[in-house]
Amino acid sequence: MTTYLNADLHCHSVVSDGTLTPEELASRAKANGVELWALTDHDEIGGQQRAAAAARAHDMHYLTGTEVSVTFAGETVHIVGLGFDPLDAAMAQGLAKTRSGRDLRAQDMAADLARVGIRGAYEGALRYVGNPALISRTHFARFLVETGVCKDTSEVFRKYLTEGKPGYVPHRWATLAEAVGWITRAGGVAVIAHPARYKFTANEEFALFSEFKAHGGRGVEVVTGSHSAAEAVKYGETAREFGLAASRGSDFHSPNESHTDLGTLPLLPGELTPVWELLADRIR
Ligand code: AMP
Ligand code: MN
Ligand code: MN
Ligand code: MN
Repeated sequence: MTTYLNADLHCHSVVSDGTLTPEELASRAKANGVELWALTDHDEIGGQQRAAAAARAHDMHYLTGTEVSVTFAGETVHIVGLGFDPLDAAMAQGLAKTRSGRDLRAQDMAADLARVGIRGAYEGALRYVGNPALISRTHFARFLVETGVCKDTSEVFRKYLTEGKPGYVPHRWATLAEAVGWITRAGGVAVIAHPARYKFTANEEFALFSEFKAHGGRGVEVVTGSHSAAEAVKYGETAREFGLAASRGSDFHSPNESHTDLGTLPLLPGELTPVWELLADRIR
């Protein structure tokens, strides 16, 4: 498989904070020309069997996937895992531990929103949750849009739920060493998700990439729905500098909310090593 492949290795289903089922995502990926697909729900692998079966039914290549929430240098960083054994017990336990704080955090978020007059946000967000173990800020955002507090989810994240704004609750996720270790020891490849999204200084970003590599991380998202064309160029250079393989993924969540659809991004630049070259024996 070459760089010139319509691979989409980042998206979300109702098992985390997407609005489509794994089967609906597989159909949509296929219709958009995706040749290699991965479902990467936040801190969850509960949709993997369904996604793999749906991919097979569409004659589309599949890699197992997840997106692990990590706290690094006081920021939340996302680490995508690809091609791991979905039956690996240590990884399942690690992800369960990472999910476990979400419900209390959600109750605290609702209490903070109540202080600015927004009531019933916990129950409201729960109405959008497909997986009770995975209540996320996205579900709160949908509630705030539905009730007319904001016009869309990007307005929600400008005015609420982010640092310094009502509804923001700091949270301690997995460590970088844990996330990379779970994925790697389960036979997968760890990938830094959407690096341009983090508010790091140059020194902090260098520390992230260096420590990620030292823990065994091998990839970075270069072409993603979260990057501009210039950011893709920049992180392509970072990939080469750190000797990391490059990944490509839309980060698609919902037909109504996501500006980048499955399989519609530019292809990876030809001079980069695509992450799927490291995973040839894991592709189903
Ligand atoms: P959580 O894991 O509960 O902290 O929620 C994180 C999720 O919120 C991300 O995966 C996105 O789906 C969503 N999100 C975060 N920031 C934004 C933003 N600025 N615009 C839209 N969605 C966002
Ligand atoms: Mn999300
Ligand atoms: Mn992410
Ligand atoms: Mn994502």
